[in-house]
Amino acid sequence: MRPSVLNPLFAKIETLRGVGSKSLKFLQKLCGDKIVNLLWHLPYNIVDRTYCEPLIKAKPDKIWTGVVTIKEHIVPPSKKQPYKVIVTDGTADLTLNFFKYYKDAFQKSLPVGYKKAISGKLEIFNSKWQMNHPDYIVIPELFETLKSVEPVYPLCAGITNKMMLKLRNEWLQKIPLMPEWQDKHFLQANNFSSFYESLKTVHYPQKLSDLESLNPAKKRLVYDELLSNQLALAIVRQRNKKQAGRSIKGNGFLREKLLKNLGFELTGAQNRVLSEIYQDQEGAYKMLRLVQGDVGSGKTVVAFLSMLNATECGLQSAIMAPTEILAKQHFETMEKWAEITGIKIELLTGKIKGKKRLEILDRLKNGQIDIIIGTHALFTEDVEFKDLACIIVDEQHRFGVNQRLELTNKGNLPDILVMTATPIPRTLVLTQYGDMDYSKIDEVPKGRLPTDTRIIPLTKINEVVEGLSRKISTGSRAYWVCPLVEESEKLDLAAAEERYLSLQKIFGEKVGLIHGKMKEKEKDAVMEKFKTGEYSLLVATTVIEVGVNVPEATVMIVENAQRFGLAQLHQLRGRIKRGFEASTCILLYGYPLSNVARERLNIMKNSEDGFLIAEKDLELRGGGEILGTRQSGFNEFKLADLSNNKDLLYIAKKDADMVLATDKNLTSQRGQALRCLLYLFEQDEAVKTYLAG
Ligand code: ADP
Ligand code: MG
Repeated sequence: MRPSVLNPLFAKIETLRGVGSKSLKFLQKLCGDKIVNLLWHLPYNIVDRTYCEPLIKAKPDKIWTGVVTIKEHIVPPSKKQPYKVIVTDGTADLTLNFFKYYKDAFQKSLPVGYKKAISGKLEIFNSKWQMNHPDYIVIPELFETLKSVEPVYPLCAGITNKMMLKLRNEWLQKIPLMPEWQDKHFLQANNFSSFYESLKTVHYPQKLSDLESLNPAKKRLVYDELLSNQLALAIVRQRNKKQAGRSIKGNGFLREKLLKNLGFELTGAQNRVLSEIYQDQEGAYKMLRLVQGDVGSGKTVVAFLSMLNATECGLQSAIMAPTEILAKQHFETMEKWAEITGIKIELLTGKIKGKKRLEILDRLKNGQIDIIIGTHALFTEDVEFKDLACIIVDEQHRFGVNQRLELTNKGNLPDILVMTATPIPRTLVLTQYGDMDYSKIDEVPKGRLPTDTRIIPLTKINEVVEGLSRKISTGSRAYWVCPLVEESEKLDLAAAEERYLSLQKIFGEKVGLIHGKMKEKEKDAVMEKFKTGEYSLLVATTVIEVGVNVPEATVMIVENAQRFGLAQLHQLRGRIKRGFEASTCILLYGYPLSNVARERLNIMKNSEDGFLIAEKDLELRGGGEILGTRQSGFNEFKLADLSNNKDLLYIAKKDADMVLATDKNLTSQRGQALRCLLYLFEQDEAVKTYLAG
């Protein structure tokens, strides 16, 4: 259970007085639904309201704060002109201009002769002081409060900075007294202050540098987050290592048979990774291993051979794909291999219903099926196995630590192998998969031709279409991937449909459309037509899994490529590298194209090394490249930015390992405090599952 000291922070956001019913849903979207989420919503800029020189000595174009006396109201003859209020600070006059106004309200709230404290941008017009729409007009008693440095928060429609400031003052009161979870000497050595003080520094900045990532206050908070991440993963990793599995070591008979009839030799990388897997399987503990391999590196056969090892021991295996289309594709590939080896495999997806389904479930339970292929639904439903020994999760970042935890706790201690087609930089392996061992298939089979990648402006789309026509007339097949428009699936779809219609005018019946809103059946039908060649051109949104293997497809056109993450572009391009034919990838870009965006596209043009691309993506995405972050799916941290905080991450990993080496149940004084940290950053699952008491 979460330490009760944290309860005030985990209260709903609407329990704060400053949250109205209207702002609630905007605030939830912007920050989250709990008070603690506001702590992590950091300002990115400041407005300095401390400048308060007497007007007679003041300089223009600064934010000025002062106490003024209202002298006169000038009501304009027409609504088109501003309403003016003349005020003075005793040294000079200042004209306040209001373009949006309510005359009566003004005359009531700004009575002539009264004093007010105001703050806003001071300007000179016709050699007189003026201020358009002051940011603040408050009672003079609030002058000292007003005369301060104000943080600027990231906002959204419906949420103003003033609201955020009010909320900040409120939630700061709710921060409970928590035990210090960091090592005292470490804090001193790094010039870090307490969690509370650090939080206060970044939310009540005095200067811009208080917000920078090098500032000790910011760094301390980032380190707290990284430590919570590394500690949670280390806890899981440590416990997994202790969970007895069973030793699986087949006689190799089936594997030999397959390898002899496969039609190709395994690459060195495939063999190396397989031996790592076999070792895990034979070991006395449960396997939990991540296999990363670029698109086309041949993960499927590695997965199949691992499962065959279990089959040789008379045990069952399951492979889970992220979508039904991909499950079906795995099934089709593996069917051939099952035939060679004479084992029984089946496909079980949501579409298989009724008698057929019951029959499969029955055979699974009786052990008449060696390998079952499906989606994650395989595990959410009450599918029973005779003896499940090996689970393979074919994934692309959809599978978080918590889901893995759920899986490991299921069934009869099966081994788990997670396969991912996205090459993952080391920092991300640490933060996302730190609970697992990992292997890399860092080699693609020989003989693959490189892809010719070109970067072309959208304005030249007509030439691209002409080139496409020529390709298609010689029998090529092509994908046309449509842009991501914000995060809206609806808009994505509209863009794709529009493109589809315009391409249909040129290619007629030969063009198909596939998108995420289609039913599974319709998608299958379209895919089938593309596979058989009835369609030569497939217009798609990325919502759908383009992961389907169509070896004849050798052209990939990505529209508004600058909006995609590099990892994603790399995935897309991988779709046309299946065959041994030369392929062409055209990245169509629109304007505006930032320098970073151009650089990113150039990386795609110059490299096909998925690992390099992933590293670069991470480096370049730092700062404002929100789109890239969002779309590459690595956006797990609230405060840390891995392109900036690598060194802190490595320190956190060491620290976490050291803590657990001496205090594996987190019962010491620091251990207890660290539990608090884990809950603060919502690493509940690791603690709940593995730490009692
Ligand atoms: P991915 O890693 O993207 O899942 P696949 O397992 O689908 O890659 O393999 C891509 C293609 O390469 C398949 O057609 C597969 O049969 C073939 N393949 C796999 N390993 C080798 C190899 N060692 N030599 C030649 N072709 C291979
Ligand atoms: Mg694959």
